[in-house]
Amino acid sequence: MNAEIITIGDEILLGHTVDTNSAFISRQLSAIGFEVTHKSVVSDKLEAMEEAFRIALRRSKVTIATGGLGPTDDDRTKRAIVKVFKRNLILDDDILDTLKNRWASRGQEMPALSQNQALLPQGATFFPNQIGSAVGICITEQERVFIALPGVPIEMRHLMTEQVRPYLAKMKIDQAMSIVTLRTTGIGEVILSEKIQPNMKLEPGLKLAYLPTFGQVDLRVVSTAQHQTEADEKAERLVRYIEKAVGKHIYGRDDDTLTGVIGQLLKDNDKTLAVAESCTAGQLGMAITDVAGASSYFVGGLLAYANDVKTAQLGVAEQILIDHGAVSEECALAMAIGCRKLFGTDYTLSITGIAGPDGGTDEKPVGTVYVGLASAHTTMARLFKFGNDRTSNRTLAVNSAMEMLRREILDICN
Ligand code: ATP
Repeated sequence: MNAEIITIGDEILLGHTVDTNSAFISRQLSAIGFEVTHKSVVSDKLEAMEEAFRIALRRSKVTIATGGLGPTDDDRTKRAIVKVFKRNLILDDDILDTLKNRWASRGQEMPALSQNQALLPQGATFFPNQIGSAVGICITEQERVFIALPGVPIEMRHLMTEQVRPYLAKMKIDQAMSIVTLRTTGIGEVILSEKIQPNMKLEPGLKLAYLPTFGQVDLRVVSTAQHQTEADEKAERLVRYIEKAVGKHIYGRDDDTLTGVIGQLLKDNDKTLAVAESCTAGQLGMAITDVAGASSYFVGGLLAYANDVKTAQLGVAEQILIDHGAVSEECALAMAIGCRKLFGTDYTLSITGIAGPDGGTDEKPVGTVYVGLASAHTTMARLFKFGNDRTSNRTLAVNSAMEMLRREILDICN
């Protein structure tokens, strides 16, 4: 069963507001087996909305629109709905009472303008909104379902998860769907594809997508079948094949994060971690502590930006800095070893590099980063060559450091 999403608002068309609503709705719909086939953004002009709604109703079983349900004159979604469905707007007493009570609970009288929010297209049902004043609207006609939700993300999410999703999940769905995301890092999508594609046999109803982000590639397996168990089993067969082909690069599934997975590994093994950062200047520590409960394994870090700090606090020999420079394998190693002495942890990670845009040379261009690692068993440093963008270089350095640690803990060779 297919579904379509329409986001409404000039501010989205102009790029002032980033459309996060449709991404959220897509995920919710996919999770209950709908195939989202179209998404569009339309201006809040009446004619534009009418046209978008008519097109959606022709081609999609379910349409979900967000935005433009407020009480003010620029919120025209309901007006467009009644024109398309050829209905009138009528005042709903239940919604009106709820609105009046909301205002009364704040000790205020409801402004006249707010009455607009109690208007409902004739024959429509509504999804009550516990955290805002605009209800969700639902119209069913000729086996088509049209739903309008408020644009405010927190209200839309609340209505989508609490009301719309359960409502749609009850509709007869002629296909079951299973989605598994395998999360990889330390390998690009082209190499991944070279390792996966040659021997892969895709059963009917299976799709594999490569979804790259900074330093990571998600492999999304989508499986559709008549019944849920069939869809699940088919997905798992492809997952097992992919795990055989590129297993060492897969750090987790679905909502797993690299830092979360490493945190769990450290916890499970009762190990501790500290960091010494030069060019990332705290970003590694921040990523590690983004995970709730990180205090049980993360001890601390040293922000060793200047050479003086590297020598005074981490014991990096001045000769290393003279002979090899601060951005060198030798310095990364010495930083990791010094950090371990300083904090007394099981593992330490160090990062030193040229994030850019300045500071590059022919020998060490912008994007040159060394990551060091020290533990009771090993000390090592690896060279990474990233690109020209400062922000990306710092993010990629953090990701690479975390991946080095994951491989060290799991004893995965590079
Ligand atoms: P309200 O009841 O507040 O009037 P509404 O249904 O009229 O809600 P809009 O006026 O369209 O919603 O949007 C309210 C705010 O919600 C916008 O200013 C914007 O910040 C945010 N918003 C709207 N649409 C989206 C979207 N697709 N993605 C992310 N944020 C959005």
